[in-house]
Amino acid sequence: MEMFSETDVDTACLSGKRVTVLGYGSQGRAHALNLKDSGFDVVVGLRRDGASWKRATADGLLVMEPSEAVKGAAITVFLTPDLVQGDLYKDIEPSLDKGAAILFAHGFNIHYKEIEPRADLDVVLIAPKGPGDLVRRQYEEGHGVPCLVAVHQDATGNALQLALAYSHGIGGARAGVIKTTFAEETETDLFGEQAVLCGGATELVVAGFETLVKAGYQPEVAYYECMHELKLIVDLLHEGGMKKMHEFISETAAWGDLQSGPRVIDEHVRERMKDVLNDIQDGTFARNWIKETAGGQKEYRRLMQEDLNHPIEKVGAKLRGRMDWLEN
Ligand code: NAD
Ligand code: MG
Repeated sequence: MEMFSETDVDTACLSGKRVTVLGYGSQGRAHALNLKDSGFDVVVGLRRDGASWKRATADGLLVMEPSEAVKGAAITVFLTPDLVQGDLYKDIEPSLDKGAAILFAHGFNIHYKEIEPRADLDVVLIAPKGPGDLVRRQYEEGHGVPCLVAVHQDATGNALQLALAYSHGIGGARAGVIKTTFAEETETDLFGEQAVLCGGATELVVAGFETLVKAGYQPEVAYYECMHELKLIVDLLHEGGMKKMHEFISETAAWGDLQSGPRVIDEHVRERMKDVLNDIQDGTFARNWIKETAGGQKEYRRLMQEDLNHPIEKVGAKLRGRMDWLEN
């Protein structure tokens, strides 16, 4: 593993240069504000008069339409939803300076060839391993969210240094920047969110809740056990791995974990995980998602609604309403 820290960064290669951030959502807002506070000349590129346009202007940033915004930029950063980046690249390509850099926070479009960049451009990745609000908050507190860095195309011979200087500007270099490839970042990121973080964790919670409710237990009690308390465990894992969790849970809980965990997450689950990974690696997942988006995301909305209509959501909303320390 190769990891870079602040001392490996030569910020001179970007000093005084313009950085254009396309998109002002979760990541876009955090990157733009951090870069501005780090002393860069930041421009935000957005569709005129959208909600993001007003927000970025209110935050004191210079906002222009994408094709205007990228003119003269040393780096143009793609922080719009992944599936609009292909069309956006086509729109702005003629306005990109020769020898400029384009930067991504997720490798999807480059890896699956939705964007095939001009040969004179540096093409790099800085992927923060955390949501935008954390990228902003950590920066303001003098810390940073760790990032991954990758180089897809090194036209100038300086692409890696440029990407590292960018990661320094958003605070990532304070926490460490690990070298990867577009392929590794894209495939592991998709796998993580599908099998473990978003898909895996929520299905595990719902399956546990349904098992208890079906067996006749109160939904409220099932909610506390399967959804609410998950945070306590995740915090321990995040801070100190399995060792810290085992120090804080009871001996009975630890014995139960060691006995029953592998009965639930068994070989069958590992085989399904491998299926999910195969679909990511051979492009099936990407093709389906691109097709779904081109067709208006009807199935996406139907499945989302089904999730939101699940009884655990009704019980949860009621119980969270009584816990006034929660931000809901
Ligand atoms: P988001 O959905 O929060 O924000 C998207 C922004 O793009 C909005 O400001 C929207 O107004 C703007 N936008 C939409 N269409 C546009 C267009 N045609 N032209 C200009 N602006 C347009 O997006 P996000 O979650 O911050 O994701 C941005 C990128 O960061 C993606 O590549 C994503 O994979 C990556 N990423 C996200 C996270 C995360 O935690 N959200 C983490 C790591 C990487
Ligand atoms: Mg992710």
